[in-house]
Amino acid sequence: MRAAIFNGVGSPLEIAERPTPLLREGDVLVRVAFCGICGSDLHAAADASMGLAAGAVMGHEFSGEIVESAAPNHPVGERICGIPLQECEDCRPLGACRRGLGMVCPGNKVIGLSNSADGAYAEFVRIGASRAVPLPDNVSLEHGALVEPLAVASHALARIGAVSGVDILIVGAGPIGLAVTMLARASGARSLVVSEPHPGRRGRALRLGATAAIDPSSQELRQAFRAATGASPSMVFECSGVSGMLQHCIDAAAIRASIVVVGVASRPEPIIPASALFKEITLSFALGYDGADFHHVIDLMRKGALDLDGYISRIVSFGELPKTFADMRHANPGAKVLIDPRR
Ligand SMILES: [Zn+2]
Ligand SMILES: [Zn+2]
Repeated sequence: MRAAIFNGVGSPLEIAERPTPLLREGDVLVRVAFCGICGSDLHAAADASMGLAAGAVMGHEFSGEIVESAAPNHPVGERICGIPLQECEDCRPLGACRRGLGMVCPGNKVIGLSNSADGAYAEFVRIGASRAVPLPDNVSLEHGALVEPLAVASHALARIGAVSGVDILIVGAGPIGLAVTMLARASGARSLVVSEPHPGRRGRALRLGATAAIDPSSQELRQAFRAATGASPSMVFECSGVSGMLQHCIDAAAIRASIVVVGVASRPEPIIPASALFKEITLSFALGYDGADFHHVIDLMRKGALDLDGYISRIVSFGELPKTFADMRHANPGAKVLIDPRR
């Protein structure tokens, strides 16, 4: 099969032949229909500390059709999206981490971001059958590849509690900030203000459900939120990973607000604890998702509750992947770029 091989930090992806994965008991082989290019992939390709070795195949946001099955309840021909988690060898026969830790289990691997679990920048990908989630007939394979990033938002929202009627600040309108915007809109948030310096991304956030968008390079977050809503946010989602943002989130937040960090920041982040103490702020972190988040997102898709086409910026062929990937390291459009390995 053809696969896009990671050749180390600083080298472009290379499309080459790889053996099609062999199935183990309980696995299915999926012909990849669409796979999203994720910020985590761009990050792993640029930052050696992420530990991705040359030879790895990325791609963890995928949909496709089962073409071979070693699991009785998942027939050939089933249209699925994949939860890109591979349990440790002790837990794999159980189909899930025995301690129920999912993404945060240190023994688990993210398919497409690990050296020994190849991902879906390829014609075929192998996953455990319990990680293959069937798509309803009215959900296309294009949209199926969006379930994974939207599930990240579902998980972040689940960490914070009910959002109905709530004033929410979302910092950053990349794919995850946009996903939080879409899901919070579908869950009935009262106001949804997105802070994002890039004008194109602000425009997309407004299309996808933000009630206002502010430019943090020229507006002060706390004042701009108040001007837009007449209130302070009682929920804040930090989706940018930008240094220094956490203190801005605390300063903008209402008394007893909850702040959830979803963005990946790998550098020390100074905050003034007293500024959070005097408001009794709750600060938490959300990583990835679990199966319930996938089912929740698919259910919203089935009901037509999400503007999914507005969340896709482009679909490119497999041959265009190396150049598109390299370009996105400089100018990431914000919404999802999908690859189609069938063409
Ligand atoms: Zn991702
Ligand atoms: Zn485990």
